[in-house]
Amino acid sequence: MTGTDVYLLAAFEPYTDPRHPVPINTLIVHAATLLHPELPQPDGGMMYRCLTERPRRAGEIVPVSTLTFELDGGRLWPLVADWERVVASLVGVSRAGHCDSMSLGVPDLPSYLIAMGPTTVSTIYDQATGTMSQQGPSERQAALDDLAAHVARFVASGPFWPGDNLVVPPVDREPLQFRPCGTGPSSGQKPTLEHMSDERSNDEPPVSKGIGVAGCYAYVPLGPYGQPRQCHAPVAWTGVLLRLKVRGRPAQAWQAFACGEHHDDLIARRRLLPRDWERLADWREQADRWRPGRTSPASDPYRPPRPLAEGDAAYELVDRAQEWAQGHPGK
Ligand SMILES: [Zn+2]
Repeated sequence: MTGTDVYLLAAFEPYTDPRHPVPINTLIVHAATLLHPELPQPDGGMMYRCLTERPRRAGEIVPVSTLTFELDGGRLWPLVADWERVVASLVGVSRAGHCDSMSLGVPDLPSYLIAMGPTTVSTIYDQATGTMSQQGPSERQAALDDLAAHVARFVASGPFWPGDNLVVPPVDREPLQFRPCGTGPSSGQKPTLEHMSDERSNDEPPVSKGIGVAGCYAYVPLGPYGQPRQCHAPVAWTGVLLRLKVRGRPAQAWQAFACGEHHDDLIARRRLLPRDWERLADWREQADRWRPGRTSPASDPYRPPRPLAEGDAAYELVDRAQEWAQGHPGK
């Protein structure tokens, strides 16, 4: 490995493993593991760039929540990577032994602090002593320093093996735009696609994360891990979302689902028909396979959701859908 050794910390719903005495809720890997060929790429490679293109201390542990903070509180994630899929895959790669990793059961309080952003201050009630205390950036850093000491002991016997046949990071893309939370012009707004290039669709409403999601497409910036989460309200509407052309990736038209509150951005929205419920159920079944620790058998591989159309066909589909909607007002 050349350059500074930096590590990614990912938190997730705990799983149990007979090899570990406590449920595992945290994984630490070398940044280069994000270039593992078994991870969704180029998303993993883009997260690698997030880890390595900012000044970091040698041996620094960077939680996903810190990346979220640096990406304008998560508003820029849709332009960078599907971190949820990457983290879920990372857990699988780690459990299969295809890279070196530290799997940890981090206790509730440090786990909570690490999951919050690096500037968050929380009031914590200690049940044991019945006292309240303020915990913030310094306590979070102390928890990360503890973990860094673990990593340093591990590395003393040899460097982390990031896996074999690593892919090349997607360096052909433009430099990453880091925008620590609260410093950008879009602070407090929905994610925007302002620096995506598309001459046809500058007036399209912003399409937030939620493409191919088995539930409401809406993107909720803060979640229990300081990471963006999907809206979990019941689905009531379906329609089309256009994912704009992004450097090298064609435009895509996707069927999307939404709750009663978040249906505004759906093109040609309508109530679900039986075939829509079937598709939603299929997407849900497939999404289940991305839960940490699960692998899908070769005989029944993971089938990710697919767009309805790509490229020019995507624009044509959206045009047709809009025409249909004009003929069916009030649906
Ligand atoms: Zn919603």
